Amino acid sequence: MSSRRDFIAGTIIGSVALGLEAQTTRVQATQAAKTYTWIGAAPRKNIIISSANGIHGIDKGYEILSSGGDTLDAAIAVGKVQEDDPNDDSVGYGGLPNEDGVVELDSCCMHGPTRMAGSVGGVRNIKNVSLLAQAVMQHTAHVMLVGQGAEKFGYAMGFPKENLLTDRSRKVWLLWKETMSNQDWWGPGLADPRYPVPPDTPAMPTSSAEVWQQRIDWMTEKAARLGIEPEFRMAAIERVLNPPTGTIHVSAANTKGEISGMTTTSGLAWKLAGRCGDSPIIGAGCYTDPDIGSAGATGSGEENIKVAGAHTIIENMRHGMSAKEAGLDVLRRIVHAYEKFPTKLRYISMKYYILRRDGDYAGVSMWGGTPEKPAKFAVHDGAKRLENLVGLYPGNPLTFPPQPKDPYKINTP
Ligand code: ASP
Repeated sequence: MSSRRDFIAGTIIGSVALGLEAQTTRVQATQAAKTYTWIGAAPRKNIIISSANGIHGIDKGYEILSSGGDTLDAAIAVGKVQEDDPNDDSVGYGGLPNEDGVVELDSCCMHGPTRMAGSVGGVRNIKNVSLLAQAVMQHTAHVMLVGQGAEKFGYAMGFPKENLLTDRSRKVWLLWKETMSNQDWWGPGLADPRYPVPPDTPAMPTSSAEVWQQRIDWMTEKAARLGIEPEFRMAAIERVLNPPTGTIHVSAANTKGEISGMTTTSGLAWKLAGRCGDSPIIGAGCYTDPDIGSAGATGSGEENIKVAGAHTIIENMRHGMSAKEAGLDVLRRIVHAYEKFPTKLRYISMKYYILRRDGDYAGVSMWGGTPEKPAKFAVHDGAKRLENLVGLYPGNPLTFPPQPKDPYKINTP
């Protein structure tokens, strides 16, 4: 048995050894830092980039940057506008719910100046999950909290408990339940080799136009019975037939070379309860490295997680690529994964927003939209504007899950 003296002697020897070890590590870290690649220049102007829906709040974020505020506070201020808006049904309050009719939100953020990060997933009843992710970063020793634990933490931090399901989103969910709920997100998923690849035909076959018209009429009638207002009925049907994705990503940098990013979402409509997409995943939905830049994503969360999109973009820029090249390269990785089933790519919507530390920026998209309606992203560097995303392919993605060729195969009217 060792004595108290042995224990103390052992501890002293241990601390000396640890001290030496720490010194060695410091020396190694300094040597590593010398060879570490980073982008030295700061942007000439303060700048914010975001997904197109950020255009509504981008002024608020820019004001924060202009008055010398923190880059993450600026990014979150832009996202919060969408979280608070009941009419943005892809983010925060009013988001379209999961298959059980419950709104579940995801968010993550990275603060460049401190190299800290925070994230929350599958949060119910708290609207401003971007602020909640920031609170995880600032008030815990953790990076990610999910579900009930995240909610409990939110109430402890003073976030109010709110019903996030607006009447409008509830009615759209009911319309889905009544007409399309046999087209759900249970497997097999798109990436699964057992997934039935539809032949190369348009999503809505023209030969069945009449049948489709009957179906739309049937859904319109149901929408009316559910009390969906006439001017929103077609939009509601669209959301049911094409389960929408939607999210906001924001990256912000200042002329001091500080940079941060955030992403917030209600995720995929009609998802399985507990499903987290890419948005709360640091390295997928958002990644910020203060030495290199910040990037984020909207679109197909499942695809983006598999290529760790935002992180891969940052690594591409670390190795010398421009913002645009870095983003297009990651899109090509997704394409490569579908080499055996290229037609499945038509169902993949994937957009990246990229801001390099020196101010070089880009928005890239798997599908760039049409010449009449190109896909866009928002920028503010003193001038607020929407710019075209660079598309890997022209056109728009088809909806997923794909609509059956025979519309009567969906819950027969
Ligand atoms: N990426 C989000 C998710 O998968 C959805 C989206 O951006 O549209 O949850």
